[in-house]
Amino acid sequence: MRLDKLLAHSGLGTRKEVKKLLKKKIVEVNDEVIVDPKTHVDPETDTIKVGGESIDYQEFVYFMLNKPQGVISATEDLIHETVLDLLEPQDSLQEPHPVGRLDIDTEGLLILTNDGKLTHRLTSPKHHVDKRYYAETDGVVTEEDVQTFKEGIILVDDHEEFKTMPAELIILEADASTGTSKVEVVIREGKFHQVKRMMKAVGKEVLYLKRLSMGELKLDPKLELGAYRPLSKDEINVLR
Ligand code: URA
Repeated sequence: MRLDKLLAHSGLGTRKEVKKLLKKKIVEVNDEVIVDPKTHVDPETDTIKVGGESIDYQEFVYFMLNKPQGVISATEDLIHETVLDLLEPQDSLQEPHPVGRLDIDTEGLLILTNDGKLTHRLTSPKHHVDKRYYAETDGVVTEEDVQTFKEGIILVDDHEEFKTMPAELIILEADASTGTSKVEVVIREGKFHQVKRMMKAVGKEVLYLKRLSMGELKLDPKLELGAYRPLSKDEINVLR
């Protein structure tokens, strides 16, 4: 990749600012001072220093976000704030994108990365990655619903019926006096509004939905709504 791009993506400023650094003759590649911003460098094998300090460039970035309601899981939108608007400018430099989608009113775990392979691994319909949600419903969830979720539910997409894969429904609280329930749902697909539609099929309405985990990756309980942090190496590895 170009040296100016690498420096800019390492947080050393805009391309213009980086050019100024190069002009100052303080950038070295493999101990040789370089001034040409177009110089090709390989971050894997070249040692790049600015003012004597080594640059730690990572090709891929991985963040865990606790998505709040009201923002959409897209990279741009004309009306609403997107999850990318929640990132510090420095963390957007390498153009991460959300891995899959959560509805505008759904909260919880959303991974942001620029690693297309990982995104494909986690979202492709061929790989069935468990997604665990906490939900509050209008309607009292029953053991019969638990069984129905296990057997799969017929939904319609593009005028075509399909049966959902077996899903786990765990009743945490079913309150006949208020007519509401608290449950956890584990699904292995990621169809549009899937949890809400499955609940609707058994006559319940989802009032609140939060994703708790994706595969082996759990939402960090220390992350406030709207907050994010980089994934640790171990967390990245459990997703692969
Ligand atoms: N299922 C839904 O209905 N909505 C989400 O945001 C995620 C899963």
